[in-house]
Amino acid sequence: MDIFEMAKIPLQKAISVMQLSEDAANIISQPEKVLEVSIPVRMDNGKIQVFTGYRSQHSTALGPAKGGIRFHPNVTMDEVKTLSFWMTCKCAVASLPYGGGKGGVIVDPHKLSERELEALSREYIYKISSMVGEYTDIPAPDVNTNGKIMGWMMDEYSRLRGYAVPGLITGKPLALGGSLGRNAATGYGVLIAVKEAFKKIKIEAGTATCAVQGFGNVGAFSAQLLYDIGVKILAVSNSKGGIYSQTGLDPYAVEKYLKDNKGLLSGYPGSEPISNFELLELDVTVLVPSALEMQITGENAGRVKARIIAEGANGPTTPDADEILKEKNVLVIPDILANSGGVTVSYFEWVQNLNRFYWTAKEVEQKQEQIMVDAFRAVCRASEKYNVTPRVGAYIVALGRLDEAMKLRGWC
Ligand code: NAD
Repeated sequence: MDIFEMAKIPLQKAISVMQLSEDAANIISQPEKVLEVSIPVRMDNGKIQVFTGYRSQHSTALGPAKGGIRFHPNVTMDEVKTLSFWMTCKCAVASLPYGGGKGGVIVDPHKLSERELEALSREYIYKISSMVGEYTDIPAPDVNTNGKIMGWMMDEYSRLRGYAVPGLITGKPLALGGSLGRNAATGYGVLIAVKEAFKKIKIEAGTATCAVQGFGNVGAFSAQLLYDIGVKILAVSNSKGGIYSQTGLDPYAVEKYLKDNKGLLSGYPGSEPISNFELLELDVTVLVPSALEMQITGENAGRVKARIIAEGANGPTTPDADEILKEKNVLVIPDILANSGGVTVSYFEWVQNLNRFYWTAKEVEQKQEQIMVDAFRAVCRASEKYNVTPRVGAYIVALGRLDEAMKLRGWC
């Protein structure tokens, strides 16, 4: 089963339990608009190489399309279409005034020189410029794209329009209109969701323990922010392996160690090695999978001992694992809720860009907290009302908001 097949299972369940009308289900089953473009780039060897790129707008019922651009050799049109649907749901759960979009180029960017990468980024955004724009479709970084690439794309689009258009794209460097708080936003969202889960099942942060799989952007910020509220971090890992300490790790010191030790966690003072799969089965209060998809499966879910799973990564838990975890009364905070902090602060970046008025880090944090707490509570209400997992509850919230907007607009 691939990750897209996996996503369809809770979605179908949500459609069925909430009795979404056939008309609404039919409309959302296809993206509104998909564009395929060819992207000729003069390579450093003097020859032209033509790349293929896509942009999909799944829905604009709730607002302009929003979603990242990935550069990867395995990008396909189907993948981009499915990911744009996922963005529709993620934005709707958070009540952001956005629909869902996604873009991609079939390329291994690690094989390009800096000049080739810039040429590709500029030509791609030029080719999809009829479709994107600050009021129609707002891209952002995704796999293998970053703030620098967003800056080039913003510049290329602004040249076309004849004036700076920072609201075209989010995830930009601060100097080009990026938002304070964006780097930590997804980890901060994980923290907000975990704090809500603590309240719900009456756990004091100071008595809680945590294991984090994937000590990257999302994982490291999640670990540090949870540590700051008193949670004991027992284990962290990355693709090269993990470390465990019964007395707890200081994730700030671990981050520094990682930088000084060429990306290797092993040998961190006072720790012992642990594999990525052992980490998932540790006796902890909170497990934060924030690396890859399909890590908690029907095979290992029975051995998971965590009370709460906060999905920093997209799709870390398979549907059969979900059923087992529900039986075990594990509170799974689903990806489209737990990791929606990133798109939430992207939304703030866009609002600031449109107004040319910038907020403090504190304002960003407060606004993010309000949005995510409301989303968390809406998902809990839906999952309790329909007696379904929080994942299905999250889809019910998203589909309900989409359905209402589509009806009011006279689409169905
Ligand atoms: P990242 O590249 O910064 O970090 C990923 C981490 O996972 C790295 O430490 C890497 O070594 C580790 N990893 C890779 N393979 C692993 C394996 N087999 N076992 C254990 N660890 C492994 O990426 P990120 O931005 O932190 O994203 C992580 C996940 O969160 C992805 O699923 C991403 O789609 C999702 N996500 C990220 C954001 C964001 O704002 N960055 C937003 C929403 C969702």
